[in-house]
Amino acid sequence: MTDDTFPFRSVIFLLCLISIPLLAVPSQATQEKPGEFEKFASELEGHFERLGWKDLDIEKIDWEYYRKTRGNRPLVFASFGKSSEKVALFLAGVHGDESPAVFILFRLAQFLKKNPELYSNKMIVIAPLVNPDGFLSRPQTRTNSAGVDINRNFPTKNWRQSVKDRYYSGPHANSESETKFQIALMNRFKPSRIVSIHSPLGCYDYDGPSSDLGSLVMWLKKVSRENGLPFRRYQVFPGSLGNYAGVERGIDTLTLELPSSEPLKAPEYFDQFKRMFLDILDLNP
Ligand SMILES: [Zn+2]
Repeated sequence: MTDDTFPFRSVIFLLCLISIPLLAVPSQATQEKPGEFEKFASELEGHFERLGWKDLDIEKIDWEYYRKTRGNRPLVFASFGKSSEKVALFLAGVHGDESPAVFILFRLAQFLKKNPELYSNKMIVIAPLVNPDGFLSRPQTRTNSAGVDINRNFPTKNWRQSVKDRYYSGPHANSESETKFQIALMNRFKPSRIVSIHSPLGCYDYDGPSSDLGSLVMWLKKVSRENGLPFRRYQVFPGSLGNYAGVERGIDTLTLELPSSEPLKAPEYFDQFKRMFLDILDLNP
């Protein structure tokens, strides 16, 4: 079953509670079990503490999830506001060892929850931790628990198997639940813009239909000057998000590469890029 057909998490939770006394527990493999999210949340909180992150309160957000990783961890997302035209999808933690990106999106979700006036005419969907198995392993890893680089696993036309250690693209295209999760979010919410946050290359990289004269690219150049990060248009790799979403599906796809993967820099980065995240939907293509 795809994400599109599922009701909200709270509804599933309710159904689950109702069905226990009737001994008719729904059979989907993705069915949420009571306490499952709480277990994940407490594992995350313990890790946040180790990273020195204090001001994240993930249980206050209405997270949804329908998919899990090999490590049985939920692939969570939250949505804010309603719009069919202005929809932005934010992704982080695709590479599990790039900690600040994960902080930024958990923090952004908290910030949006408190400030609903910021998205009265738009919709913002946040998936703060695409690769929880990599993020929560010790030491943290770039790849998922099967050693796959999720950013080489998208089913692009030119996908090919790369066996290079850190960039292993998987046994076949779209083999990983973390990849399927991101595609399901694109199919369900039909974002006009995607922002994927990584580190530590320190630059912006854009893939998509905007030309150099498009206002989005012009704006990105301006933002890049203000934030002191260069604006680049890298080559697109087989199986990458930029290739799949930007080139093949024609969605404006921005990769923000933070200048470092140092966890303690995360709050500073959030303050630095918050405005940009909120502005990104208010530009014409
Ligand atoms: Zn990365």
